[in-house]
Amino acid sequence: MSLARPIVLGNWKMNGLAGDSAARTEALKELAGASLTGTLGIFPPATLLDRARGWVEGSPILLGAQDCHAKPSGAFTGDLAAPMLREIGATAVIVGHSERRQYHAEGDATVRAKAEAALEAGLLAVICIGETEAEYLAGETLDRLATQLEGSLPDASDAARVVVAYEPVWAIGTGRTPTSEEIARAHGFIRDKLKARFADGGAFGILYGGSVKAENAEEILAVDDVDGALVGGASLDAEGFWAIYKAGIAPGA
Ligand code: PEP
Repeated sequence: MSLARPIVLGNWKMNGLAGDSAARTEALKELAGASLTGTLGIFPPATLLDRARGWVEGSPILLGAQDCHAKPSGAFTGDLAAPMLREIGATAVIVGHSERRQYHAEGDATVRAKAEAALEAGLLAVICIGETEAEYLAGETLDRLATQLEGSLPDASDAARVVVAYEPVWAIGTGRTPTSEEIARAHGFIRDKLKARFADGGAFGILYGGSVKAENAEEILAVDDVDGALVGGASLDAEGFWAIYKAGIAPGA
């Protein structure tokens, strides 16, 4: 079964010490209440996962990690294995974020191996793909997405365990976003590729990420084949993040 829509996930990146993070989570927990019709998740730094498990207890908020290693254990100083994250309370993990691809030289094969490790550990894998600004300007967006989808998604992917996040690199943290038509084209393309490769490709969650905020969420989340959002900066404010989630609730739902 795939995840309930909208799927709105907050990537805190390398932000947050215990005090401010507890307050932010508490505020979000109050807003979310006891149950949700969609899926709302936070991805704090790994140092906070143990505490965050307690903070979200009794709430529907999903807890995820921002990265994992491809191996379950070994001589990899400073890295964290998927089973460790699962043990500490994460139920999901982001892999292939453009900041990992860019600053840690992670290519599609590495991202795929990490996603396989996540699935093996019982974690939902949120797999990020997206073109650079140079590729966008050269009209190569769809080619890039095709390559990344092919290379980064495990063959064992299914809609219950994998979410694809389309994040144009040039839109992350810049305040710039593609037009709704461009988002629709990219998401439609990703949907077609998923359908061609996986029996339940039509049911995969496809998230848009890149400068989503309360002000533009309604328009972006209304685009065809946009099942939710991966939110960076705006997820650091509980009310703004909640407003993004609410913007994705279909009228009458
Ligand atoms: C992200 O880092 O995944 C992201 C989408 O960041 P921002 O919302 O800040 O652009």
